[in-house]
Amino acid sequence: MPDKNNAKMNSSEKNANLCEGCSLCCGYITIPIRPPNDRRSIEEIRWWLLHGVYIFVGDNGKWMIEVPNRCQKLGTDGRCKEYSNRPDVCINHTQIDCEKYGPDTPYPGGFWNSDESFMEYVNKTPKLRAAYGKK
Ligand code: SF4
Ligand code: SF4
Repeated sequence: MPDKNNAKMNSSEKNANLCEGCSLCCGYITIPIRPPNDRRSIEEIRWWLLHGVYIFVGDNGKWMIEVPNRCQKLGTDGRCKEYSNRPDVCINHTQIDCEKYGPDTPYPGGFWNSDESFMEYVNKTPKLRAAYGKK
């Protein structure tokens, strides 16, 4: 049986079985960002959110920006057209923490998809509210 906890060690066939019918993780990129701690960094996040991205804090406490953008190598059949030459990021991505098999709460530290929801969080978080301050 395919082992979702050890995707790197699985054969391509086993991984394909686990991922059958799913291509969620080929539809975006994520980039670490510095945690907001002053007005400038909060305003920067607001600006990003206004451009249709998401901001989240992973279970490791890292702040990330997620940019929804389908990979150019994802075929219309939902399979990778460049599997044998896919980037290391794809090779190292395991099913253990992926959207399909991962934890029910993938963003324990927070997830924001709009300027409004993020500023609501800033305003109810004393440290951030103070950091935001006035212009
Ligand atoms: S989200 Fe998980 S199951 Fe879906 S394609 Fe990615 S690794 Fe496979
Ligand atoms: S290269 Fe292949 S596995 Fe990697 S994101 Fe693109 S379609 Fe998915």
